[in-house]
Amino acid sequence: MNVLITDKQKAAQVILNSGEEFAIVKNPDYIFEEYSVYPLASKLSSLKDIIGIVMDMDGTTTTTEDLCIHSLEFMVRKLSNKMAKDEWMGLDHFIDLPFVIGNSTTKHIEYLINKYQNKFKLDKIKESFIYAVLWNITYGQDKQRKEEVKNNAKNLLLTEMLKDEKIKYLRNSEPSDIEIKQVQLNYFYDKYLEKLPEFKKEDLVRIGIDVYYQRYHEILQKIKLGQGSEISKQVFGVPNKHLITAMKGVEIFLPLVKGLLGDNVKYVIDYLIEEYQKSSDKPEINFDKSIVTNNLINLSNYFIKRPVKIAVVTSSIFYEADIVLSEVFKVLIEKISKTELPTECKNILISKFEDYTKFYDAVITATDSSEIRLKPHRDLYSIALYQLGIPKEYFDKVIGFEDSESGTIAIRAAGVGCCVAVPFAHTSGHNLSAASYIAKGGLPEVLLKENLFIKIERG
Ligand SMILES: [Mg+2]
Repeated sequence: MNVLITDKQKAAQVILNSGEEFAIVKNPDYIFEEYSVYPLASKLSSLKDIIGIVMDMDGTTTTTEDLCIHSLEFMVRKLSNKMAKDEWMGLDHFIDLPFVIGNSTTKHIEYLINKYQNKFKLDKIKESFIYAVLWNITYGQDKQRKEEVKNNAKNLLLTEMLKDEKIKYLRNSEPSDIEIKQVQLNYFYDKYLEKLPEFKKEDLVRIGIDVYYQRYHEILQKIKLGQGSEISKQVFGVPNKHLITAMKGVEIFLPLVKGLLGDNVKYVIDYLIEEYQKSSDKPEINFDKSIVTNNLINLSNYFIKRPVKIAVVTSSIFYEADIVLSEVFKVLIEKISKTELPTECKNILISKFEDYTKFYDAVITATDSSEIRLKPHRDLYSIALYQLGIPKEYFDKVIGFEDSESGTIAIRAAGVGCCVAVPFAHTSGHNLSAASYIAKGGLPEVLLKENLFIKIERG
C-alpha cells in the first residue's frame, strides 16, 4: 500500500506504531499542514561497527557563521537605514544569536523581521529590494536563487523592470568590481520604486531573504575573486582573517576515518589534545597519553581496512556550499602542513584535500531539496544516506554530527540514532537534547575521549 485515505484514529495509530519519541516540526504559514511529525530513531551511545558518517557543514565542519550573522545584520541595517554602529549597535549576540543560527534562512529572517520591523523605513525596504533584484540579475551566480529573485520581483509588480533595456548596461567593465553604481541605480529607483505595492508580512520576509542573500553572495564572490582580505577588513576590521575556517580537529578527523592516517595518528595526539584544551566549557580531562595513543592507533588502523563513506549535509544552497567547502579545504591543507605528520603522509593528505568533491562521497545541499524541507525536517539527511548507498537496516552503523538543535533533530528523524552534537559559541544556547552525546570539546573530544563511540577489540 502506498496511499490510504483514512480517518484520524487510524492515522493516529500509524503514528503511534512508528516510534517511541517524536519531533513535531512547525511548518511555515503558507504550508497547509501546520506540523510535520517525525518518529526519531532511538538514541545510540556506541556502535559495534561503522560504515558511514553524515556531517553538517556550518558550525560542524566549518565556520561561516560570522559571515551569515554579518549578512543578517546587514539586512536589518539596510531596511532600517542604520548602516553605522552608532545608529544601531547591531544584533544582540546573547538574545538574537540562538534564533539566527542553525535553522533555515527563512526562520532566521522571520525572527529578525518580527523583532526589528518597527525600525524599518518603507523607502529603504523598496530601494534594498530593487538593489537585490538588480544585483542578482547582473552578478548572481546561483541559477535557482536568480529564479527566486525574479519570481519575487514579479510577485511584487516589477515584471516591467525585469524587461528594462537598461539592465544590459549594469555590469561594470572591471570584472573584480561587482557592485552596481549609484548613478545606474538612480534610474531604476526613479522609475520603479513607486510601482512596488504595499507590503504584507510574507512579502517582507521574501524581501529580507533577497537582501540577505545578496550581501552574503556578494561577499562569497569577493572571496572567490581573491578579495577575502579586503572584505575581512571591511566587515570585521581586521585584514587576513580567514572568513571561512575549519572547526577544531576536522583536518585530523576526516583523513582518519578515511583510513589515510594509520599509525601516523600518533604524531598528532599532542596536537589533538591542544585543540581539545582550547574549547571552552569542555569536561576537564587529564588524558593518559599512552592509553589515548594506543586507542587512536587501533581506531585509525581499523579505518585503513574499512574506510567509511562521508556525506556533508548542509541547509546552505549549492552555490554557497561550493565556495565555502573549496575555501575550507584550502584551510585544511594549511593546517595539515603545520602538523608533525611525516612528509609523505602530509603529501598524501594534501593531494586528497585538493578537491572536496572527490574527498566526500556525497555533498547534499539545500539545492537538493527545497527551503521548506530543510533541517529540522529529515530530508537532507535521508537524501545523504540514500546517496551513500546505506540501507535502513544499517542506519545503526552511521554517526551523525551537528552543532544545532534543528540539525540534531534532522539526523534522528532520518533514522540515525548515534547523533553527536558539537556545539560551539554560536549554538551554545541551542537545545541539543535530541543528541545522543554532546561533545563540548568538539571532534577532538569525540576522538580522544570517546574513540568515536566504536567498541573495537584492541590489537
Ligand atoms: Mg550547523
